[in-house]
Amino acid sequence: MANYVITGSASGIGAASRRKLESDGHTVIGVDVADTDVVADLSTPGGRSAAAAAVDEASGGVVHGLVCCAGLGPLSRLPGGKLVAVNFFGAVDLVTALKPALERARNASVVVISSSSTTTQPGIPENLTTACLDDDEAEAVRIGDEVTAIPAYPASKLALAWWIRREAVRAEWIGKGIRLNAIAPGMIDTPMTSGADPELAKALDFYPMPLGRRGRPDEIAALIEFLLGPGSTLFCGSVVFADGGTDAQLRQQDWPAAWIPTTDELTRHFKANT
Ligand code: NAD
Repeated sequence: MANYVITGSASGIGAASRRKLESDGHTVIGVDVADTDVVADLSTPGGRSAAAAAVDEASGGVVHGLVCCAGLGPLSRLPGGKLVAVNFFGAVDLVTALKPALERARNASVVVISSSSTTTQPGIPENLTTACLDDDEAEAVRIGDEVTAIPAYPASKLALAWWIRREAVRAEWIGKGIRLNAIAPGMIDTPMTSGADPELAKALDFYPMPLGRRGRPDEIAALIEFLLGPGSTLFCGSVVFADGGTDAQLRQQDWPAAWIPTTDELTRHFKANT
């Protein structure tokens, strides 16, 4: 049985994942701002290092899987900068800080929660995803505050998905037996979406769900357990959409996208593989 760490374990998808993994006999160390094993605020660098130190101690320095669920939703009242600090930096800094413990487990798995808003919400501020991927937290927070939480949300989740794809294939991750993958849920019934935010409620009313209903947290928990476990060893840098058909309906032939490389991309590709 494995040692798993779940951030955002006190609510919604994180709490459902904890229940599922524990009922299957695994040990779970929860991280959240309250009501869990490791109480830490992942919006600050200090909170993230305190969380990593506490997890290291609680796990005996061996973590078989890390699930980053902690996040703030696109609520009009929230500062966009704080949302970016939690959703992007709170995830990637913790993944990075726990790398030695993941490496010790051999064949570890990391699952982060991105979002289907990455491909379905128009007007994502590109400078915000760039600042995240450049690891410039001060600039990302500044832009997040400027653009506000509603556009900052998909930008933070797009940067997270791209970070996973960029890092997953590097020798320092997959070469050390650590698989990095992301899930992009559609609309899931949790406190994040059932809150009384009028602007979010308006947007969610228009959100197409061919399945005909919202997702349930346990449906995402089942996918998380699969991506953590031995059945998913070929998954590396995947962004798995679990959205009841939203992305397929809105963007049928945008994905899979054919690779039509420029000369520069071809050169980079051959250099990386020789
Ligand atoms: P939720 O609000 O039920 O749970 C989020 C958890 O994150 C809470 O327990 C909260 O305390 C924790 N958290 C927030 N700020 C934190 C901080 N600074 N430090 C530590 N923990 C913090 O939401 P959920 O719907 O279960 O969302 C889980 C993840 O899934 C989030 O990253 C969210 O963006 C993502 N997601 C949700 C949906 C959806 O429709 N619910 C869709 C796509 C993606």
